[in-house]
Formats: sequence, C-alpha cells, structure tokens
Amino acid sequence: MRAIDATRLYFDRAADRMDLSENMRQLLLTAKREVSVQIAIELDNGEIATMIGYRVQHDDARGPMKGGLRYHPEVDLSEVRSLASLMTWKTALVDIPFGGAKGGIAVDPAKVSVRELERITRKFVDGIHDVIGPDIDIPAPDMGTNAEVMAWIMNQYQKYHGFNPACVTGKPVELYGIPGREEATGRGVGNFAVKLLSRLGRKPAQTRVALQGFGNVGCHAAKFLSEADFRLVAVSDISGGYYRPDGVDVSKMLQYTREHQFSLHGYTEAERISNEDLLELDVELLIPAALGGVITAENASRVKAPLIIEAANQPVWPDADRVFEDRGTVVLPDILANSGGVTVSYFEWVQNRQHYQWGLNRVRQELDRVLSDSFERVWTISAERKVSLRTAAYILGIGRVGRATILGGIT
Ligand code: NAD
Repeated sequence: MRAIDATRLYFDRAADRMDLSENMRQLLLTAKREVSVQIAIELDNGEIATMIGYRVQHDDARGPMKGGLRYHPEVDLSEVRSLASLMTWKTALVDIPFGGAKGGIAVDPAKVSVRELERITRKFVDGIHDVIGPDIDIPAPDMGTNAEVMAWIMNQYQKYHGFNPACVTGKPVELYGIPGREEATGRGVGNFAVKLLSRLGRKPAQTRVALQGFGNVGCHAAKFLSEADFRLVAVSDISGGYYRPDGVDVSKMLQYTREHQFSLHGYTEAERISNEDLLELDVELLIPAALGGVITAENASRVKAPLIIEAANQPVWPDADRVFEDRGTVVLPDILANSGGVTVSYFEWVQNRQHYQWGLNRVRQELDRVLSDSFERVWTISAERKVSLRTAAYILGIGRVGRATILGGIT
C-alpha cells in the first residue's frame, strides 16, 4: 500500500462520520502546490550526483504551511504528499496557526559526507527559496535531518531574503533555536503514554514497553519513559533490536550511541533480536518510532501489545488498524502522538518573530498544556461518537481545517 492511500483511507473514515460532501473532500485533499527540483552536486571525489528534492504544500487555510524535511533513500513524491496532508490535520488538531507541508530528498545521509549533505541542502534551498518563508511555508527536521541541516537552510535562505530566522525551525539553540525542541516529540510521546495509562487505570511500573527506533524521537521518548518508571524491555534501530526482559538500561544505551555515531550497532548488554521480532514481543505498550508501514495486515495479528503509540508517521497501515480496532487494541494515532515536535516548532517561530528567547521551563509548560488539551478533546470525541482515537483525531483536525476554509472563502 502507498502511504498516500493509507492517509486517504483514514481521512475517509472520519469524513464519512462527518457527512462531508465529495466536493469538500476533494478540496481538502488536494495539495495547494507540489514542487520537485533537481539537486545536482559535486561529490567530494569530483563526481556529479543528481537527485530530486520534493516540497509538497498541502493546505494553508489556518496559516503558513509547516512540516519537516526528510532525508531517506525511500523518499518519493507519493510519501511526501501523504506526510504533508498529515501535517495539515496535525497542526489543526493541536490548534496552532499553521497549515501542512512536507519535504524530502531520496538520499541516505549515512552514505554521503557532511560537506556533501550541506551542498545537497543548500542546492535544495536554491530551488525552493521563493516558495518557502516565515509567512508561507516553514521547514523543520524529520527523519535523517537535524538542527545542523536547519542551520544550513536558514543560512542559505537568508542569502536570498535577508535576516529571517523564523524561515525554518528546529535550529540549534545557539542559532535562534529554542530550548526543548529536540526533545519535544519524544517528550510528547512520553507524556501521552502517561495520560493513556492513567485513563486506562494502568501503572507505568507494570507496563513493559518495546520501542522501535532510537533516533531523535526514540531516544527522547526512551529517556522520558524510563524517568516516568515504565519498564523499557526492548529498543531497536537500523542495526536491529536489543531485548532485556528485566528492562534495558536507557542511560547506558544513550551513552553508547553518543560514542558510536548515534548507532546501537555492537551494543552487547541485551539479547539481539530482529526489528520484526520487536514488534511482536509480549509487552503492554508498543511504540514504533522509526519508519512508516511497519505494521501491516501480514503481522498485525502477531502484535501482542494491547496499546500502541504511533511515534513515527504512519507506522500502522489501515488494514492492520482494522485488526486492532476489532480486537480492542488501543492505538494513539500519529497525528496526535508525535505532535509535540511541531508544537515546539511553533513556539520557536513565535520566539523568532518576537525576538525574545524562551526558557526551557516555559517551553515544557506550554507544550504539556497544548498536548494535554488536545488529548482530552480527542478522548472525548472518541467516547462520545464511539469512534477510534484515530478517527476522533481526524474529525477534530478536518473539522477545524474545513471551518477555516469556509470562513476564509473559496471564491
Ligand atoms: P531519526 O532519523 O532521528 O531516527 C530514525 C531512527 O529509526 C534511527 O534510530 C534509525 O536507526 C531507525 N531506523 C531506520 N530504519 C529502521 C528500520 N528499518 N528498522 C528500525 N529502525 C530503523 O528520525 P526521527 O526524527 O526520530 O523520526 C522518526 C519518526 O518520527 C519518523 O517517522 C518521523 O516522521 C517521525 N516524526 C519525527 C519528528 C521529529 O521532531 N523529529 C516529529 C514528528 C514525527
């Protein structure tokens, strides 16, 4: 299944409940603008490499479009389209004044040098600088990109348009970034885990967790969960899974990745398992925090966890989601579960426009308030309308975007 078809299916499930007309569906689903640009660079060895960079600007009814930039070998236009529309529902769901966008380049950051990555990034900005900006579309980090990449984007954008740090978020704190942005998505995931457990009358200490992905989102989620007394029994990254029934030592793992180029490869203080096995472990909570489409109709019936928090974007395909719905597995959907990142990106954008530096405590407090409010609203819609948390989250997001579209006027 293509990511875009999955998004459409989830959208339609909510739209059916909302009695949304076919014309309105078409309007809300069609991207405002899709840009593909050639990125040609000279590699360190003097050879030429050519790739394509995508930016899909899905919807701006509620404000400038906002969304991450992904560097991964499997990036294609269809995936970027799908992720851009998820951003539209996500920003509406947490009620920040943004629309949705997403970008990506089909490149493996592990296979190019830092200087090559910088050249790729700058060339991409050369190709799209006219259609992005603080009031138009504001990129941010996603898989394969980080604060350093955002600093290059800001610097290259400013060569064309002058000083304007609000043109991109997720920047280094030393360079107009905001404290707490890096941890925000993982912190949000942890926060939601606590809320979900409390609603279901479960205790963190009796909750075994399996976490797929140990990058930006996974690392910070792991840290938060272990501090909140959850029992993290398995963690994985691209090198495979690491399992310890009594609980892994998160601080040791974090230390190990810092010393080994942010990889768990070679970590010996846990049993080795595959990434597939990790998804099927006997745990109470499963958190996919890496790639999309890892849980499908093929493996859904073998997933034992009664609770799933989608830290990654689109880790559960709709046919697997049906299996979970029928079985009573509670799935906290991506557009809510990983919304902490874009929320703090919004604070960063505000900070840059106010020219006033926010402190970490304020960021955390406001983040917790926004996420808490969004969680309660989704929970209430789910209970009142007897729909899954995913459909409830889409109903809330689509409703807000639909209303803004109508209020703004279509003609
Ligand atoms: P990242 O690049 O920092 O880390 C990705 C992690 O996934 C790494 O540990 C990597 O080794 C692992 N991984 C890659 N391929 C894998 C595989 N085949 N099996 C298992 N693990 C694999 O990315 P990130 O920023 O942590 O993003 C992870 C997910 O969260 C993505 O789906 C992204 O769209 C989503 N997300 C990220 C943010 C953010 O603020 N960074 C915000 C919202 C959503």
